[in-house]
Amino acid sequence: MTGITVKKFIAGQLENNIYLVIDDRTKKAVLIDASSNVPEIAQTVKESGADVEYILLTHGHFDHIMGLNSLKQTLNAKAVIHKDDLIISDNINEYTQLFGLPDSTAPKYELYIKDGDIIPVGDMKIKVIHTPGHTEGGVCYLIDDKLFSGDTLFKESVGRTDLFGGSFQKLSDSIKNKLFMLDDNITVFPGHGPTTFIGYEKKHNELI
Ligand SMILES: [Zn+2]
Repeated sequence: MTGITVKKFIAGQLENNIYLVIDDRTKKAVLIDASSNVPEIAQTVKESGADVEYILLTHGHFDHIMGLNSLKQTLNAKAVIHKDDLIISDNINEYTQLFGLPDSTAPKYELYIKDGDIIPVGDMKIKVIHTPGHTEGGVCYLIDDKLFSGDTLFKESVGRTDLFGGSFQKLSDSIKNKLFMLDDNITVFPGHGPTTFIGYEKKHNELI
């Protein structure tokens, strides 16, 4: 297991989590989700000497990608998403309008990932777990004993399934058959709210 450092930022009116994950040895890093280009991100990257290679999107909802164009420029990083969520990302303004926010430019992506892909970054091997249900192209990223779960799994809750591409059956299958197969001691870093553990959610998440 490599040493890695996780820094968390909270941004936007829906209080989205953004995570900076740094490989301690090489300082190569990824940013997970891109709600907003809050200055603390660039500041933390600079202070820690990190080199952000990729911005990994857990899914294409507007509140996770609104800051992507700006963050890509600031960090000089490549954007990564599952292709099945492109349709949501491309239609970002249907969602911003729904939430009374100003129009945004749909981001461009440099890399598309699928279930089982391994993304090497420094000494880290980032595993892609496709978890449809909240959206068709929703993914989780597993880095060592840390799972970045987007809006698939929250502490004692799960993502909503009433938006385009959502399916409670698929979400439930993704969580039961993929995430709950992981070790109990894996820390879960969700797209909103506090961290939790796989073992804790198996016992206490009453929605699954
Ligand atoms: Zn979402």
